[in-house]
Amino acid sequence: TYIVTDNCIACKYTDCVEVCPVDCFYEGENMLVIHPDECIDCGVCEPECPAEAIKPDTESGLDHWLEVNTKFASVW
Ligand code: SF4
Repeated sequence: TYIVTDNCIACKYTDCVEVCPVDCFYEGENMLVIHPDECIDCGVCEPECPAEAIKPDTESGLDHWLEVNTKFASVW
């Protein structure tokens, strides 16, 4: 899955939402999140993010942000 990280906070762009083929972006508390079970790992959103907030979960150190994405995506 891909994960939205802190660079997204206060970002007003939604380029990522527009390109996602499976609509797995959701509103978090103060940022967007990706639903980890719905993301098909296509990677299309990553280069579209002007804040470089979207990272693959294969990158290290993202455990906290994976939790945030899971928590806020699951309430919808
Ligand atoms: Fe959507 Fe693809 Fe990004 Fe996953 S990697 S959030 S499926 S655009």
